[in-house]
Amino acid sequence: MATCVGPCYSSRPMVMRKATAKETSSGTPWLAQRRAVLDAAQAMHAEGLVVETSGNVSARVTDGTRDLIAITASGTRYDTMTDDDVVVVDHEGESVIGDALPSTELLTHAAIYRARPGVGAVMHTHSTYASALAVAGIAIPSLIDEMIIVLGDSVRVADYAFPSTAELGESAVAALGERNSVLLKNHGFVGVGRSVGDALKACRLGEQLAKIFVLARLMGNADKLPASAIEVEVELFRMRQSVNGDGAGAGAVE
Ligand SMILES: [Zn+2]
Repeated sequence: MATCVGPCYSSRPMVMRKATAKETSSGTPWLAQRRAVLDAAQAMHAEGLVVETSGNVSARVTDGTRDLIAITASGTRYDTMTDDDVVVVDHEGESVIGDALPSTELLTHAAIYRARPGVGAVMHTHSTYASALAVAGIAIPSLIDEMIIVLGDSVRVADYAFPSTAELGESAVAALGERNSVLLKNHGFVGVGRSVGDALKACRLGEQLAKIFVLARLMGNADKLPASAIEVEVELFRMRQSVNGDGAGAGAVE
């Protein structure tokens, strides 16, 4: 994957193998999904949501019997990234397609897919304003109508966990609940959605929301929406999630 800076480059044991003849006999498996991941990853980088090789993007895929993950390869430049830099692995990191190592944040992506059956894509960024709030440990409350309908009632801060660990996945899932975005303490941001386009949208809106919140606080006042509006918009958010088959999630919007 393109990976996180610093500790996110840390390696972990991972069994790699070549794709079997069966898996490749029908052409290039999951090419459309891998290209969608590639397109979203390059947009994420081009729009400044990450710098250098930080961040990562994945999509849920299946071989008919098990859940797999198409994810950006570790430490790969986005501007020269190709289809081959989006690998397909199982939830333990064993390779199904591709020779490159998957993002070192694979375990966080896998944890979210297990907790949220309706989530089809995950994007992790280090965007500036969201990361500033993550460092400060300040959750984003219900501020903007559109944001609630797309992201959920708030953006919470997950407890700190070391990058690339299973504990980071657990803390992200706990704070994410049924929402579509979460701040990772002293680290960055995660956006999820039905598709990679939706995950990218969550990251774009999350960064804009974070910027608005920071600027409003600097001006001395960041008013929450009226409770009646929040109630209606949270209901609209849940209806959208239900339509997308993502009604259950771990935890609940409060
Ligand atoms: Zn990271």
